[in-house]
Amino acid sequence: MNAQPKASHHIAGVYIEDDAGAVIESIYPATGELNARLYAATPAIVERAVEAAKAAQPAWAAMKGVERGRILLRTAQLLRERNQDLSRIETLDTGKAIQETLVADAASAADALEYFGGLAGAITGEHIDLGGDFVYTRREALGVCAGIGAWNYPIQIAAWKSAPALACGNSFIFKPSEMTPLTALLLAEAFTDAGLPAGVFNVVQGYGDTGAALASHPDIAKISLTGSVPTGAKVLAAAAPTIKSVTMELGGKSPILVFDDADLESAIGGAMLGNFYSTGQICSNGTRVFVQRGVHERFLDRLKSRTEAIRLGDPLDPDTHLGPMVSVAQRDKVLGYIESGKREGARVLTGGGVPELQGFENGAWIQPTVFADVTDSMTIAREEIFGPVMSVLVFDDEAEALERANASQFGLAAGVFTADLSRAHRVVSQLEAGTTWINTYNLTPVEAPFGGVKQSGIGRENSRAAVDHYTRVKSVYVAAGPVDSPY
Ligand code: NAD
Repeated sequence: MNAQPKASHHIAGVYIEDDAGAVIESIYPATGELNARLYAATPAIVERAVEAAKAAQPAWAAMKGVERGRILLRTAQLLRERNQDLSRIETLDTGKAIQETLVADAASAADALEYFGGLAGAITGEHIDLGGDFVYTRREALGVCAGIGAWNYPIQIAAWKSAPALACGNSFIFKPSEMTPLTALLLAEAFTDAGLPAGVFNVVQGYGDTGAALASHPDIAKISLTGSVPTGAKVLAAAAPTIKSVTMELGGKSPILVFDDADLESAIGGAMLGNFYSTGQICSNGTRVFVQRGVHERFLDRLKSRTEAIRLGDPLDPDTHLGPMVSVAQRDKVLGYIESGKREGARVLTGGGVPELQGFENGAWIQPTVFADVTDSMTIAREEIFGPVMSVLVFDDEAEALERANASQFGLAAGVFTADLSRAHRVVSQLEAGTTWINTYNLTPVEAPFGGVKQSGIGRENSRAAVDHYTRVKSVYVAAGPVDSPY
């Protein structure tokens, strides 16, 4: 499965190699075969990226917003033209089925570039009248920003961070997850081909220490992480001495509430998408599915048969629904959670093991799994599993469901399925989550703010809200008359 890039890093518009760095291997998770071998950034490579980004930023920020936007729009166009190749490489790197990567990865990266490309010319300050004197505000770029990615949506994460950053006049350094280093380089290529000035977008590979070097670097103004809560805490600590702006897109254990009056097939479809899409490796997954007692048995019946119809297999076959997980280590971690569920008394409704797939014996495969009879105190109901494992819990009334749904240190997302319009809005208003859905789940269009509360994160990605996180406001007081001084 050869997907070897031209070199490991992309700095100032060109590929750069430094084989003194630690080896990073991209593995095809379906078979365990090697896709590519790369090298982590040495300190010299990190410095080179920071210098390139610093040098490029002032001229980039001085361009008119529409000019910056035009380059982002051209990049989006290139991603769309290259979608087939990009999707194939994303599938090789992550194991996600091509059915998904064709529509959800480079395509959603292009969405972000289009949205922020269009917005770039409309990023403005405001005018505040003081009855003679006045204040105006300027929305200024922060400078050099850096992003650190997770493995589940590699090119999407790179674009969700860089598109608003660049639209606002910042330059950017992105460090992909060491598990999935490939497509961020292809985003850098597309930017360069679209005419982005050298140094405005750079990619350095590396493990946690490279991320930490970016988070603590004095010349980097902002760090945006997509990762787990423990990593978020470390990045916040590393960013503290230099008082960096931060955006934190972290983990979750999100609830879905299904009331008796819900359209049951939609609720089951939403719960399945919100647990199994991308083989369960989605931060906003609704892994605690609270079902009201009146429909509980019917919900489980239909959920079981629909889950058992999911097709696992060759990720490059367009008919395959689900591929493997990203790595055998991650799969084994999830199997450990499944064992804990069994041990603590939950009932395996379906799945719970490793499927047998001819020709894919060495892959990171796992069955989509549903636990019934789950209680709030079980490990599988409290910790983020980050795999295709759904827990179904039963509830009696709205107040109880809300209290249990909110009893978590996480607060990324939540969903409610009900036919009662008043209840839907009432419940959503009380759910402690940054991103919520009524009668659907896990749709994250670029037009809508995305992010978490509590330990699930700080800040928002996508939408106009992202502009606040990639600009700073300067207030300018303008006097209309002489200074009135008593001295
Ligand atoms: P992770 O926290 O292990 O790693 C994330 C990134 O941080 C990687 O690039 C890693 O190299 C880097 N890193 C590790 N230690 C670091 C350190 N000390 N300093 C700086 N960087 C460091 O996460 P993961 O396992 O790659 O991804 C899964 C996690 O990400 C889950 O918790 C999931 O919920 C979360 N996630 C959140 C979102 C969101 O938008 N909220 C999206 C996707 C994934």
